[in-house]
This record gives sequence, structure tokens and C-alpha cells, in this order.
Amino acid sequence: MNTKRSILVLAMSLSVLSLIAQTKVIAHRGFWDTPGSAQNSIAALIKADSIGCYGSEFDVWLSKDNVLIVNHDPRFKGKRMETSTAQELTALKLSNGENMPTLEQYFQTAQTLPNKTKLILELKEHNKKQRETEAVKRIVEMVKKYGLEDRIEYISFSLHATKEFIRQSPDTPVYYLNGELSPKELKAIGCAGFDYPLRPIKKNPEWIKQAHDMGMQVNAWTINKESQMKWLIDNGVDFITTNNPLLLQQLLSR
Ligand code: MG
Repeated sequence: MNTKRSILVLAMSLSVLSLIAQTKVIAHRGFWDTPGSAQNSIAALIKADSIGCYGSEFDVWLSKDNVLIVNHDPRFKGKRMETSTAQELTALKLSNGENMPTLEQYFQTAQTLPNKTKLILELKEHNKKQRETEAVKRIVEMVKKYGLEDRIEYISFSLHATKEFIRQSPDTPVYYLNGELSPKELKAIGCAGFDYPLRPIKKNPEWIKQAHDMGMQVNAWTINKESQMKWLIDNGVDFITTNNPLLLQQLLSR
């Protein structure tokens, strides 16, 4: 086969591959809706990997004494994430009996996972922008320490944190969650794409193609209904973040 012909065949194979590129499954707060698991627990990360999810999402706070902790809400069992120490927070028990994990424990676990699920790290919106800047600095350092650069993606509702991730870790995909910025606006700040709820995506369905045309990717959260999963799959979104990864996997395997 001559070179021109090889290039043509390669180009055709790539375009076919892109046509059949499948929506990928991200487990929201890990795979937690299953025995022995809990939202944002180490078990939820391990279980998301064990069922072959593309990624496992989790939420991160910076404690009063500058330790990165994995948890969703701004307070847990009466302790505020931002004004409590790591010792106080990691003493709290999750519903599956685990202690609230640190990000370092999450990364140590991630290193051992056989399917190398991606780490979809959400930095929560903190009371002061300066705390978000500090959290981003510490997260980026820890990712390097554990050699997880190829496994990590960042997401945030905070535009400040989104911009800080892009500034401090320009080679890592960063997605914005809040739903109001167009693909063009996100491209201008350096986002890899958007990660939006269904409502703004359905209101602006052209955003999917606009994002793809600019080389960006599209994620949707938090999609638990079969009909909504089907609509997003049919409209070519790249990722769906869900509390029901098994249902989504089942739909994708049909
Ligand atoms: Mg989250």
C-alpha cells in the first residue's frame, strides 16, 4: 500500500471511530448506591473502578488547617468543612462505617485500582477565593506527587477555581459546572468543555455541536432517568455523570 493510500485508510478509520465514539460513564460521588458503599467514600471509588466506569467523581474541600478532604456538603454531622481541622473531619464516620477520607487517601487508593478509572475532582466553592487558589495549588502538587497527571480531570461551579485550575495545571482537562457560559466563552478561558445539568443543555442544544466543532467535550450531570440518558446519548454527549452507572452501562451496551 502506498503512503497516500495508507493515510486515506487511516483517515477513514478515524472518522468511523469518531462516529461510533460512545458516551462514557462517570459515577457521581463514586459508585455509592450499592451495599457497603457511601457517597464520596473510598469504597465508592473502588466500586466505580470495579464496574469499569470511565471516571469516578468526588468533591473536595480545604480544611481550616490546609488539608484536602473528600466530602460533598459544606457541613457534615455539625462540623463545617472550612472551619474544622482535618483531625476533626476525618474522625467523622460515613454511612458505610468508613472515616471521612482525605484526598491523599483517595489518591493512594486510586494508584492501586486495576482499571485506572479517571479521577473527576470537583473543588467545592469556598467562602474566600484565596482558599480556592490555595486548594488548587495543593491539589496540583498532590497529583504530581502521586503521578496521577493522566488520570485527573477538574470540575467546579466556581469560575475562580475553574480559572485557577487552568492557570496552575494547563495540561489537565478542566470543565465548568454552573451552566450559564456558552462553549465560545468557555473556550476563551481555556476550558476543555462544559459539564452542565440537563436544563441548560436542552435549552441550548446547539451548544453540543458548537463545543465539538471547537474541539471541546460535553458532560452532563446528574442524570439518573433512562429517558434523559437516552436523549443525551442520541445527542452525542461525551460523558454522562450519574448515580446509576449500572443502568447507563446497560443502555450503552444495547
Ligand atoms: Mg460533585
